[in-house]
Amino acid sequence: MASTLRSTTRSLTRRRAELPCGPLRQSCGGRRAGERGTRASPDGAATRDPLGRGRFLTWGFAMLSVVRLAFVLTVFVGATAARAGDCDGKLGTSRVLVVDPMGLQVGTKHFPQTLDLADREVVLTFDDGPLPATTPSVLKTLARECVRATFFVIGRNAAAHPDLVRREIAEGHTVAHHSMTHPMTLADIPYDKAVADIEKGFKADDRAAYGASGANPRVPFFRFPGFGASPELLDYLKQRGIGVFGADLWASDWNPMTPEEQLTLVMTRLDHAGRGIILFHDTRGQTAKMLPAFLAALKEKGYRVVHIVPAPPRTAAVH
Ligand SMILES: [Zn+2]
Repeated sequence: MASTLRSTTRSLTRRRAELPCGPLRQSCGGRRAGERGTRASPDGAATRDPLGRGRFLTWGFAMLSVVRLAFVLTVFVGATAARAGDCDGKLGTSRVLVVDPMGLQVGTKHFPQTLDLADREVVLTFDDGPLPATTPSVLKTLARECVRATFFVIGRNAAAHPDLVRREIAEGHTVAHHSMTHPMTLADIPYDKAVADIEKGFKADDRAAYGASGANPRVPFFRFPGFGASPELLDYLKQRGIGVFGADLWASDWNPMTPEEQLTLVMTRLDHAGRGIILFHDTRGQTAKMLPAFLAALKEKGYRVVHIVPAPPRTAAVH
């Protein structure tokens, strides 16, 4: 039942074709060649290269952030994650993957390894919400197909719309973290401020979700805004016991395009990759409109949705 992360050892270079920007895109559009940090060139590469193969940047700190292989339990929960009967004939959620966050750094766009997914298994993730204009539509579409996803929410959005965060949880999704204010990027601001923004996000998210926050976030999963990590921040989260999620592919939905164009783009990438953690933004109207057709395409092509949840916190053995 237990399995380990699938490692890719092909290089110490990092594929950085493009930079997800989300609703704060304006804050990530002005980067120029030679600026400090590890981020990719921002926009444009996605539309030039439909498979997301952009320039490679040396990822010097990869060796510094090599994790011990995370311990991942898989739990099979049958054909659907919802009540039996309600989801007959739907895409459904094929299984729940219980992920130990300790030292976790996954997503081959950014790290050498990813989750242990079988061929045609996908994990759906949505960043930057919640947003009343679009998130309810995303939730409705997911519910209609009995699909469970993970939402990496922004703290200030969660604080502004706690009803939507609670709805995400009530409908069976995982609510994870994406900083308090979504700086572009956390690697570009002083370390102490970056840590404070991350921690404020944890607390704001948990207060919105559960009415209270503790010393540790209830779901210890984090994704860096714009994937702007630094070795120091990665180490901080590792010491903190927070798992870091990148992505294996994305829809480039920060670039304006029609839902049809976006569907074609993401399905082309998915058919090429065959599996993986997929990044969307539930704050994008084009994504909300595309989602029904995307789920239909997954079903038609035999893809299966995997839902990730955190392993219970480790506790000291009692003798
Ligand atoms: Zn984001």
